[in-house]
Amino acid sequence: MTVSETTMKETVQATWKKRPLIISGPCSAETEEQVLETAQRLAKTGKVNMLRAGIWKPRTRPGSFEGIGTKGLPWMQQAKKLTGLPITVEVATAKQVEDALHFDVDVLWIGARTTVNPFSVQEVADALKGVKLPVLIKNPINPDLELWTGAVERVAKAGIDQIGLIHRGFSAYGNSEYRNAPMWHLAIEMKRRNPELPFINDPSHICGRRDILLDVMQKAVNLDYDGFIIESHIDPDKAWSDAKQQVTPERLAEMLDEIVWRKEDS
Ligand code: PEP
Ligand code: MN
Repeated sequence: MTVSETTMKETVQATWKKRPLIISGPCSAETEEQVLETAQRLAKTGKVNMLRAGIWKPRTRPGSFEGIGTKGLPWMQQAKKLTGLPITVEVATAKQVEDALHFDVDVLWIGARTTVNPFSVQEVADALKGVKLPVLIKNPINPDLELWTGAVERVAKAGIDQIGLIHRGFSAYGNSEYRNAPMWHLAIEMKRRNPELPFINDPSHICGRRDILLDVMQKAVNLDYDGFIIESHIDPDKAWSDAKQQVTPERLAEMLDEIVWRKEDS
């Protein structure tokens, strides 16, 4: 292990303990320029601890942009080199885990459409055996805490000892203020059952629109969440996925300033 690799591992360990832990970046990596500019603008705010971007996108319907694929991984690695921010990507298959590890990704996350499927979670967990990386696990798209718990257990049994939970809301049929109903009581019950696991809020996928992000973030702070994973884009309206819910890095910084933090966090 080189000195800079050792330093990066220490950075990730320190980042994992940061409160609030703020993870941000685009829904999808689109181009190298977009990833690098986003990372640099996020780093400049001084308020973000980790860079996210979807490389493989599990879209509900075929025909939407399904992610840039493996070629986006070197862009993330370059963004990390430029900014010092650890990087995280979503993985849904063993091959994606293998590819992500090949590119020195610091943290992996399991998406809501994967958590829902025990076969997929098991495949990812098996690919993680012997790997020492933190893994964040989103709630399943349906309001089932047992599925969420099962995913945590499968990943833990694979030997991963740093697991975090992401609350991204639950699918509901019909019109609602939210894209995914927060069902705060379920999330809080999961938090109560797993007090030792970092509990992160994903306001972007709960809201589906940027005008109500701040309200959801404030609620999460009031409920003592450990941080956020929130989407940001250099030109949100032109994003290739989830355009309506993304904000610029600068707007994210403003929102983080507008939140009334609990005393312990400020
Ligand atoms: C995402 O984070 O861009 C994503 C696809 O989220 P989710 O799994 O919550 O739908
Ligand atoms: Mn998204």
